[in-house]
Amino acid sequence: MKIGVLALQGDFALHVKALARCGVEAVEVRKPEELEDLDGLVIPGGESTTLLKLMEEWRFVPALEKFHAAGKPMFGTCAGLILLARDVDSPRQASLGFIDIGVERNAYGRQRESFSAMGSVELDGEPHRLEMVFIRAPRIRRAGPGVTTLASHGDEPVMAREGSILVATFHPELTNDASIHRYFCALVAEGTREKAV
Ligand code: GLN
Repeated sequence: MKIGVLALQGDFALHVKALARCGVEAVEVRKPEELEDLDGLVIPGGESTTLLKLMEEWRFVPALEKFHAAGKPMFGTCAGLILLARDVDSPRQASLGFIDIGVERNAYGRQRESFSAMGSVELDGEPHRLEMVFIRAPRIRRAGPGVTTLASHGDEPVMAREGSILVATFHPELTNDASIHRYFCALVAEGTREKAV
């Protein structure tokens, strides 16, 4: 099983480390053709406008559409979530639209631009308390009927899944709790098993 981390900009190195800790082969991805032999992909946090520009410049969009159509799991954190969302506001921006959520960028206001908080995540039926680091984070303002909330902060969703697409508004790679990366690896493993039968 091989999982890539989009390494055009942003916080990719720590995701590679977190995935490696889960025992999978993790590689940095800089060219669309490198997606071909991957089973899953992480789109990290960073600056979504810059990431989007670089993705377009390097012709990643059709390759990512093909990856998604093949049912291969993707995990977007923060800016990565913004790129995977259907609708993006504040300001409005194009996105891949692989998950039916509407997000507002930089939505916590200046005073609370970056903060860490305890939240609760439910990955296998059991609620689990987790430290969540938010950095100029977006907020999920709308979630379609096919979207499941997996974690919340207060009463707001901060992590969600629709089919093979997983997103979080916070940065799980910045804490030592590997449960979210383990959950994503399990999702990818499920996909590879389905392909094998
Ligand atoms: N504020 C950034 C954006 O809108 C996201 C920040 C992050 O990824 N930590 O793109």
